[in-house]
Amino acid sequence: MKITANDPNRKSWLNVESDSDFPIQNIPFGVFLSRDDIITIGTRIGDRAIDLGALHQLGYFKGIPLTDDLFLQDTLNDFIADGRMTWRLIRNRISELFDENNTTLKNNEAHQKTIIFKMDEIEMQLPVDIGDYTDFYSSKEHATNVGIMFRGKDNALMPNWLHIPVGYHGRSSSIVVSGTPIRRPHGQTLPLGETQPVFGPSQRVDMELETAFITTAANILGESIPIDETDEYIFGMVMFNDWSARDIQKWEYVPLGPFLGKSFASTISPWIVTMDALEPFRCESPKQEVTPLPYLQQKRTDNSYDIKLQAILETENGDKNLLSQSNFKYMYWTMAQQLAHHTVNGCNVRTGDMMGSGTLSGPTKDSYGSMLEITWAGKEPLTLKDGTKRVFFNDGDNVILHGYCQNENVRIGFGECEGKILPAKK
Ligand code: CA
Repeated sequence: MKITANDPNRKSWLNVESDSDFPIQNIPFGVFLSRDDIITIGTRIGDRAIDLGALHQLGYFKGIPLTDDLFLQDTLNDFIADGRMTWRLIRNRISELFDENNTTLKNNEAHQKTIIFKMDEIEMQLPVDIGDYTDFYSSKEHATNVGIMFRGKDNALMPNWLHIPVGYHGRSSSIVVSGTPIRRPHGQTLPLGETQPVFGPSQRVDMELETAFITTAANILGESIPIDETDEYIFGMVMFNDWSARDIQKWEYVPLGPFLGKSFASTISPWIVTMDALEPFRCESPKQEVTPLPYLQQKRTDNSYDIKLQAILETENGDKNLLSQSNFKYMYWTMAQQLAHHTVNGCNVRTGDMMGSGTLSGPTKDSYGSMLEITWAGKEPLTLKDGTKRVFFNDGDNVILHGYCQNENVRIGFGECEGKILPAKK
């Protein structure tokens, strides 16, 4: 089916600023609390949120087979479970309805009043009930940087790294939507030069500049997804800050990997941008230095996406300090390889599962995706606009991640993924 929603020439009768992340070609999906205190599934064009539950009740999805309450839910899980054909039909229909040449809703002010909201009238919610969250470690630059710091230059990449998309099972209960404050965690750490651990607030709260993808039900237990079929099962992507307490992580991670140093919180952006909307921004992923085993070999070569990424530190005086500018396309292992690998042992992936990319560091220092790398484990402090220094984050720091694609025709973005650090609980 043609993705007519991606037509770059289409304009909306709703106002869209030229630098907006949400032109009519985006049509992401999210969940919000409306001004009438009702939770509904919605989309966004420009700075307007659109209530899909109301659109459906008023008959605007006529002809598309949908259950009556599909959009009157507090999560996107049922909609995502309906599969790619439904996602496409809905995006195409929304696109037609808000096309500047379509007068059906444009001339119906009464309907507009129940369907369209200003962004400051609504409150974004976590868009998905995330069953399982898996975090990969798929940026070669990031894995190399961390490897050099922890094990030295000669053993930076572990022997398995060029053969498998390394990942671990994360914690989904503490994933929060953008804007939720992040409480500095307590934990057990081993101070430098000491032999006995201490307990207290983490002194090394860090970000991880990542994206994540959300799946629909992919396979039944015991079966696997062939790599060239993975596209069917990836609904869309969000920006993702996988908060990390480096001092807790460093003491606990051997031999089973990260635990409390990661599970205190992770933040996602509220709008899920569909893979269909990102389709025009496909590009090649980095050439793989070791030919992967056959189950990880992809037929298509344009298997990555050109998504520009930014991390910003907003201090309490309102200064915005650019920490990093990276790109999703640097990621060594692709999402298709991650999903194929995830299911190759027969592990079943369900609707609403989320897979993090791993920190998306680029090749240069200004593109590193964590403070651990930017300040080289604290050895090279950053000086901010207000003259203060940082190695990791202070209480009151607001960390904002951005991601967007841009070509000569259109800009498709994710909005903001932000979280402010609160002091540790007394
Ligand atoms: Ca991570």
